[in-house]
Amino acid sequence: METQIKITTSLSNPFEICDLTENILELTGYSDHLYLDRKEDFFSQIFPEDLSRFENQIHNAIRSPRKNNKIDDFRIIDIYNQVKYLKAYVVINKEKVILQLDDVTVYYDKIEEFNDILYRYNSLKKTLGIGIWDWNVKTGYVYYSKGWKELLAYDQNELQGTFDEWKELLHPEDVDLAMDALESHITGKTPIYESIYRLRKKDGSFIWVEDKGIKKLNDQGDIVRMTGAYRDISDEKKIRENLEKMIITDELTGLFNRRHYDAQIRDEMLRAERYKGDLSIVMIDIDLFKEINDTYGHREGDKALKELARVIKNKIRNTDSAYRTGGEEFVVIAPETNEQNAMRAAERLREAVSQIKLQSNFETFSFTISLGVTTYKNGDTYSSLNERADIALYKSKDSGRNCANVCS
Ligand code: GH3
Ligand code: MG
Ligand code: MG
Repeated sequence: METQIKITTSLSNPFEICDLTENILELTGYSDHLYLDRKEDFFSQIFPEDLSRFENQIHNAIRSPRKNNKIDDFRIIDIYNQVKYLKAYVVINKEKVILQLDDVTVYYDKIEEFNDILYRYNSLKKTLGIGIWDWNVKTGYVYYSKGWKELLAYDQNELQGTFDEWKELLHPEDVDLAMDALESHITGKTPIYESIYRLRKKDGSFIWVEDKGIKKLNDQGDIVRMTGAYRDISDEKKIRENLEKMIITDELTGLFNRRHYDAQIRDEMLRAERYKGDLSIVMIDIDLFKEINDTYGHREGDKALKELARVIKNKIRNTDSAYRTGGEEFVVIAPETNEQNAMRAAERLREAVSQIKLQSNFETFSFTISLGVTTYKNGDTYSSLNERADIALYKSKDSGRNCANVCS
């Protein structure tokens, strides 16, 4: 079916129709007769904003006739008050001016729809602070959005955009994790690709990102492309890390707290069981602490607690960990440490603490600790292990304090 509409006028009167095709009815809703009988005027149906440009272009076409003059698309308003977009050519043939029109409204609708989507996409990109990527799996080329590069402080013209380049930007420790997540999605194990990793900025520092994407398959089921976005979560990560740290930290001394001790000792017992490794704990209680409080005040008592914590931290090995498990009670977990070595460590601690000098308002004072050591035995529970350490500690209290004892 011929869809092109032809309107014929004359050189002498280019805006008076002498002939036109019947399909004008589909375009404007008026029949060709109405136009030919001068009951309707096609040119007055042209969108007012487009009219003068349209007229000028027709005049130009007449002035310098070429076989085919493409003029700008213009709009008309049809019988239902709908706007229609027309693609137009002007053909000059002897005395005749022929206007060839194609209804391109659907394309314009599509463009408008596309612009709408583009607008939404750009707004979201901006408000969410995300970087968009689009990986062509076949060519290996990766498109990075402006925001993607901005998050890493790269300029628009930097980065080539390849899969390998992206891999290079990953923190070495995170590469395996990200690749596994990618693999899981590509092989269909996960509905979307999701990964949290560090990316290297231009200056060499790293940001944490949450990366998500989805694959696109062709008709044969091969993956052809993958599109996604990442978000800078460095700040969230920091807040969460601080929170997590707060949850397991004793506020006064900065050592780990009781909650963390309960979790960690259970973990260490499982590990000792599994790998048949040594594991010892050293329980510590300040001697006659009530007297210190009574003599020098609670503030000085707190200073003693802080100083004790500092000394414990300094004296234990890197692999050991120290906890404030009660008011003036502490525990050191010493993995890979047998009873004998744990006793040596306890003795070192006792000695170091006895050297602490604290300054109160009136005088310098010192204090001592008693310690109880025990080593993990097969089949131990949380309670049995801690009870033995307790017994060892009470042995030390009973035998005059400022000493370490073991309970096997
Ligand atoms: P012992 O040698 O038998 O352990 O004698 P002690 O006085 O230390 O006895 P106990 O362990 O029963 O007393 C603990 C005291 O520690 C009670 C309390 O006044 C004090 N204490 C507990 N927590 C804190 C704290 O956070 N700050 C201060 N300043 N004192 C505390
Ligand atoms: Mg106590
Ligand atoms: Mg005490």
